[in-house]
Amino acid sequence: MVRQVLILLGAPGAGKGTQAVRLADALSLPHVSTGDLFRENLSQGTALGEKAKGYMDSGALVPDELVVDMLFDRVGRDDCGGGYLLDGFPRTVAQAEALGSRLGADDRVRVIDIEVPDSAIVERITGRLSCGSCGAVYHRTFNPPAAEGSCDRCGGALSQRADDSAEVVEKRLAAYHEQTAPVAGWYRERVGIQTVDGTQSPDEVFSACRACAEEVAS
Ligand code: ADP
Ligand code: ADP
Ligand code: ZN
Repeated sequence: MVRQVLILLGAPGAGKGTQAVRLADALSLPHVSTGDLFRENLSQGTALGEKAKGYMDSGALVPDELVVDMLFDRVGRDDCGGGYLLDGFPRTVAQAEALGSRLGADDRVRVIDIEVPDSAIVERITGRLSCGSCGAVYHRTFNPPAAEGSCDRCGGALSQRADDSAEVVEKRLAAYHEQTAPVAGWYRERVGIQTVDGTQSPDEVFSACRACAEEVAS
């Protein structure tokens, strides 16, 4: 069976999570977010969560081997047998290589890069509100929930992430430019990538991503 592996690339705050939730619904693919997986580990107090915490708090990337083991464990579960949508992975060329060595001939990899200039990122991230239950994301100004403090999708409580401060964002952006931006070039040379203008409205970004994903799936 052909397995669709859809990868969303983009800077922190580019809109990967926002689009991933919607694309996962529309395409019936499980949404696999390595950031969400780390936060689950943190809230459950696992050894992995403990190891990841310092990196996340400071805005650095978690070391590749911790991320890759966690990701492989997740995509090895039954619900990913028909494909999956990756949000926030791979973030280094080494992670892309590790994923590549795991995929087989039946895996159809598609990569969408959501482009947003750094100048728009800080405002997006410092206004972000996240649902602790389903992972949906909102913005105080650009995309407020219908009822303050609660998720439109599942009613879960919304909160601001500890690493969504102005200081930590600068470090996350620096890590993005140094370590993650080269991943787009790596895929461009190997499987091709599609770029989407992430400064459009969320609905427009969604339509563009969906068109890329479906073009891809045919
Ligand atoms: P990422 O997963 O790439 O870090 P998110 O999807 O969490 O990004 O989005 C970051 C913030 O920007 C959130 O507060 C979200 O509501 C907001 N946002 C997402 N897409 C858009 C958009 N197209 N226009 C304006 N704000 C957006
Ligand atoms: P963003 O809004 O920046 O896209 P995420 O929720 O994807 O945030 O990630 C939060 C943090 O988790 C990152 O700053 C990093 O410390 C860690 N992290 C998530 N995914 C990865 C990854 N693939 N490689 C290394 N670190 C990661
Ligand atoms: Zn929710």
